[in-house]
Amino acid sequence: MAGQKASLSQVVTKNREVALDKIRNIGIIAHIDAGKTTTTERILFYTGRTYKLGSVDEGTTVTDWMAQERERGITIVSAAITAFWELKQDSSVEHGNYRINIIDTPGHVDFTAEVERSLRVLDGGITVLDAEEMVQSQTETVWRQADKYHVPRIIFVNKMDKLGANFDGTLAAVRERLGAKPVVLTFPIGSEQSFRGIVSVLDRKAYIWEGDPSAVSGQVDTGAVYTETEVPEELVAQMEKYRAQTIEAIAETDQGILEKYVGGVEPDTHELKSALRRATIKSELFPTFCGSSLRNKGVQPLLDAVVEYLPSPIDLPPVTGQWNGNTEERKPGNDEPLSALAFKVQTDPHVGRLVWLRIYSGVLKAGQETYNTTKNRRERTSRLVLMHADQRELVSEAYSGEIVAAVGLRETVTGDTVADSSYPLVLESIAFPDPVISLAIEPKTRSDQEKLGEALGKLSEEDPTFRIRSNPETGQTIISGMGELHLEILVDRMRREFGVEATTGSPEVAYKETIKGLAEGEGKYIRQTGGHGQYGHCFLKVEPKGRGEGFEFINKIKGGAIPNEFIPPIEKGVVEALSNGILAGYPVVDLSVTVFDGTYHDVDSSEIAFKIAGSMAVQDAARKAGLVLLEPIMKVEVTTPEEFMGDVIGDLSSRRAQILGTEKRGNSTIVLARVPLAEISGYTTTLRSLTQGRANPYVEPSHYEEVPNNIAEKIISAKKS
Ligand code: GDP
Repeated sequence: MAGQKASLSQVVTKNREVALDKIRNIGIIAHIDAGKTTTTERILFYTGRTYKLGSVDEGTTVTDWMAQERERGITIVSAAITAFWELKQDSSVEHGNYRINIIDTPGHVDFTAEVERSLRVLDGGITVLDAEEMVQSQTETVWRQADKYHVPRIIFVNKMDKLGANFDGTLAAVRERLGAKPVVLTFPIGSEQSFRGIVSVLDRKAYIWEGDPSAVSGQVDTGAVYTETEVPEELVAQMEKYRAQTIEAIAETDQGILEKYVGGVEPDTHELKSALRRATIKSELFPTFCGSSLRNKGVQPLLDAVVEYLPSPIDLPPVTGQWNGNTEERKPGNDEPLSALAFKVQTDPHVGRLVWLRIYSGVLKAGQETYNTTKNRRERTSRLVLMHADQRELVSEAYSGEIVAAVGLRETVTGDTVADSSYPLVLESIAFPDPVISLAIEPKTRSDQEKLGEALGKLSEEDPTFRIRSNPETGQTIISGMGELHLEILVDRMRREFGVEATTGSPEVAYKETIKGLAEGEGKYIRQTGGHGQYGHCFLKVEPKGRGEGFEFINKIKGGAIPNEFIPPIEKGVVEALSNGILAGYPVVDLSVTVFDGTYHDVDSSEIAFKIAGSMAVQDAARKAGLVLLEPIMKVEVTTPEEFMGDVIGDLSSRRAQILGTEKRGNSTIVLARVPLAEISGYTTTLRSLTQGRANPYVEPSHYEEVPNNIAEKIISAKKS
């Protein structure tokens, strides 16, 4: 954002309201380097909001707001950008001007939280594939995440101009690796250097982009113009073949079309497109397009496809939430009560704290008093901002189906619901994975000390996978996140945006502790010191929960053995003891704690005494139940030439890896494994030297597992020494 020069402009737009069926909230999801940024750039160019073509390679793109992103060439922060596209002819939907809100999703695995939260609020996605690399590891991961959130998708096979581009191979990879049904709507004319256009199989038309209008930063594009022609004779047979497959796939999802198809009657194009739209919205089919964003070929038809096949807010089921223990629905529409989900918080140097909201129902007004139903707090928006690629627009109202950044909300964080105070519905929050790596951070000077606290607070508020805690023994501040790159970028932001100089220790694996069995424990804190004493006494039970199920506190005190007011302090003591760790200082997770008995003293009992008793009791119970260490296990996929496969597997095996198997993909072999995070520091370097730089690893967090005994002993004794 530091690089964003645009200033706020008060734009008075009358009748800004766009019909709900003319809105598309989409995201572009892809493996890093597949061309997401370039494609977004081109979309913004063709939708008329940027007047220069940006180039990723030169670091001038508009969606990559922050300086580090420019330097690293990766997109970290998802920004929602509003653009307009005119559909010129009736298709599966009416012609007209459509509002497309593009929610930028990051392409790097260290930022899964960003991907998850974007997926939660968008209605449809474009999956961008590299026509040579085909389906890559992260594509698979993000595809599964999109499945989880039922996000309908279209597929764009990008880089058709690249050496080794293989359209049919990519289709096969989509079927095999994603288990999805791609439906070809356009196929390439020529390939690699001779790629010059596409054939639309349903329209039986060809689109040719003349010349080689490759992107040169700062130059106005000439390749925006394309010509529609008859399908070249030599491609007619190929078109009919794809067309038959496409119609067959659509017929399988639609009774009317099936009957015509079986009866030998060809359904008309409008019918086919409408049925395909329905099947796409149900995620039964995935319309597939091709092109080259870099060479400006195929992007306009892709924009048409976004409008034609991806859902508008009213095509999807109403959002549901909880109110007074009941599940309720909110239909999209401006006359419904307001319900909105906060999906991102950013600190903006120009306007301060920005909370990004997806409005599911109702209207949000600037200056309106609203209600944060997750926290039960009144909140007021002061201003509402729509972000365009090159400009911010202040609006007085934001409507159902829109995505808007609100200024003025103080307490709302990612995952919270903002709603009408008379209808305080709570939408389902967003779940985030736990961080796997941590490091100690220390301010360089005294003056950095205060700024450090503030910076850490703000950054963790923006990013729920970035956590801060202090080590009770050393007093050090420990930050944790999803990977080394993730933490590196946050430390970098701290320096740039908050002016904090800090030194960091070396990254450490974020171990956890958990209990093995069921046990009871007692905590008794009694002090008799002259006058007023201290008295807290409780019994509790600990019980293991499933991996990743977290912590639960249950109160089963009967007959007032402990007065109600002392139960929350007991819980506080338990939570504190668990987060400080019992075995080796790592947080204890995945267990339930039930307090079931105790005693109290009329005069001496206090909150603090029960807090200490709770802490003592849970430590006692957990020790009796047996404690073990858990470690993060990474999903590792190594792409290597066949000849190095043996070496790669041998090396992985020496790292306590579990080898899951190997796969052939094109000329490469993929080794699939699960490896403890503790064993793969410096892996990239070792792999490079092992394979003369020809193998590439892909690593992402998978799950937590118990650390083998002999290794756990070493970790524990190292912590204690
Ligand atoms: P992202 O990581 O998915 O955002 O991908 P980028 O848009 O940053 O692109 C990664 C690299 O691929 C850059 O060097 C682009 O210039 C290049 N690239 C993007 N689209 C194309 C394309 O259509 N053809 C070719 N040959 N290269 C492309």
